[in-house]
Amino acid sequence: MEQIKVTIAGPRGRMGKEAVELVLNTPHFSLISVIDHRGEAELNVPVYKDINECFNVETPDVLIDLTTPEVGYLHTKTALEYGVRPVVGTTGFSSDELNELKELAESKSLGCIIAPNFAIGAVMMMKFAQMAAKYFGDVEIIELHHDQKLDAPSGTAVKTAEMIKEVRETKKQGHPNEKETIPGARGAEMDGMHIHSVRLPGLIAHQQVMFGAEGQTLTIRHDSYNRTSFMSGVKVSVETVMNLDTLVYGLENILE
Ligand code: NAP
Repeated sequence: MEQIKVTIAGPRGRMGKEAVELVLNTPHFSLISVIDHRGEAELNVPVYKDINECFNVETPDVLIDLTTPEVGYLHTKTALEYGVRPVVGTTGFSSDELNELKELAESKSLGCIIAPNFAIGAVMMMKFAQMAAKYFGDVEIIELHHDQKLDAPSGTAVKTAEMIKEVRETKKQGHPNEKETIPGARGAEMDGMHIHSVRLPGLIAHQQVMFGAEGQTLTIRHDSYNRTSFMSGVKVSVETVMNLDTLVYGLENILE
């Protein structure tokens, strides 16, 4: 198999550490450098504080970004400008940012994968929820994450709502005259659906999609109990991005 040279941004983070292990333990991946804004990563590869500094010297095939929304967006853009294919797990990009990155990837004929959830089970949860939404128009999404997460709702919840929106007839849910006596009680709203974000220490990444109809409910739930659960998705993304010439958003779009 062709050797793939990888640079990782955010190597000291919870996801970044797992990605470092994945790349070091995959025979056809080579970790050639990391980008750590504090320069504190302790690894046997060059550590750069800045992405431009890194790409002026290194020529990786793929950048894995697991940082923060603003930095992740800048890293993805810069990587594409340098001809490096990004695999991005960082969440919280706006749709304008995603559109801009897609245009840039296409203008450079470069692959780019942005996946708000790399867990294969979470992708199944989203697909099953989309299937169910054809028959159940009333749905509430409850996403639960650790309390260090910066963005809400989660990228997975937004992506799930978008997938449901593709098949569900637009409908404002709940009583037409319902009033929130405490603002936010009904959660965020997209196309009449509601999204609720729970943040608690002890949680990792969980999501429940609840459908209701006369006399029945259907709950589809996925739980990530550790961050290793995301790494099979990162691995397949690094392999797949080498053969793409556009931006793909969502792991479900590269799985068979
Ligand atoms: P984390 O532990 O906080 O790690 C983030 C890392 O980014 C830290 O090492 C942080 O360094 C670094 N960072 C912060 N500012 C930076 C900058 N200016 N330049 C370079 N690096 C910078 O967070 P995490 O739990 O690993 O999550 C990382 C991202 O992945 C988040 O967006 C999260 O939502 C997302 N995520 C995605 C998936 C998925 O399946 N796609 C799953 C879980 C999480 P410091 O420690 O010095 O601040």
